[in-house]
Amino acid sequence: MNSKKVREILQINTARPASDGAGVKLNRVFSGTPDLYDPFLLLDAFGSDEATDYIAGFPSHPHRGFETVTYMLEGKMLHEDHMGNKGLLNNGDVQWMTAARGIIHSEMPQQEEGRMSGFQLWVNLPASEKMKDPSYRDIPASNIPETNFDGVKVKAIAGEVDFNGKHLIGAVSGLSSEPLYLDVHMPNDSEISIPIVDGHTALIYVYEGSVDVAGKNIKQTQLAILSKEGVVSAKSVKNARFLLLAGKPLEEPVVQHGPFVMNTAQEIEQAIQDYRAGSLTT
Ligand code: MN
Repeated sequence: MNSKKVREILQINTARPASDGAGVKLNRVFSGTPDLYDPFLLLDAFGSDEATDYIAGFPSHPHRGFETVTYMLEGKMLHEDHMGNKGLLNNGDVQWMTAARGIIHSEMPQQEEGRMSGFQLWVNLPASEKMKDPSYRDIPASNIPETNFDGVKVKAIAGEVDFNGKHLIGAVSGLSSEPLYLDVHMPNDSEISIPIVDGHTALIYVYEGSVDVAGKNIKQTQLAILSKEGVVSAKSVKNARFLLLAGKPLEEPVVQHGPFVMNTAQEIEQAIQDYRAGSLTT
């Protein structure tokens, strides 16, 4: 059910510089406060023209208990995992990886110069799905549904949305947390209104230009956390590009230890033991 009112901004945060993997420089947009972002756990934005900022990549590492979604804007990144899956992400491609019970993978740049930019989002799994079999999907840019209206472009990576009289179904749908993942491009002085299910978390991360939402300006590298009811209404001040993320809160306890996200400390202990014993993925 959707109410007609407009979502307000509860909080605006600025992404902070961080380093991860073998020393990849990135902007951490959010992490570690599950109730505000639930069902999302983390969003990293990476973007650099300097190979030294990204070349070290993310060598072999484990995950358990959630999903990682990589969206490349520009650049080439190779994913390889313990199941023998191999996928090259290129401009505009998405990889949706469900780590669930366990995956060990690497994410390595396949370029020695030029720009690399994109995002990694972590989506939590409900307790009932944390120990299911892992899986992954490579989604080429050409398979991501997109709609255009008065110069506004909406790409639907995940979820379903009504926009400009059309019902757009994203490349990924049918997940329990009902994630909506849109990449929105708006020219100067354009406006959009996007209905979001009442009660779902809604977040906007501006990665170019700036937009006004409910009377407040959100600038490049800022994240806005929106109230839980109504439509998302945005007006671009400059040419703007932003991610709109929404999803159904899981409302479960979250215990995180690095790449493992479970419901209890005991389950984290088990994940660490399994990884050490070489049985994380069996
Ligand atoms: Mn990873």
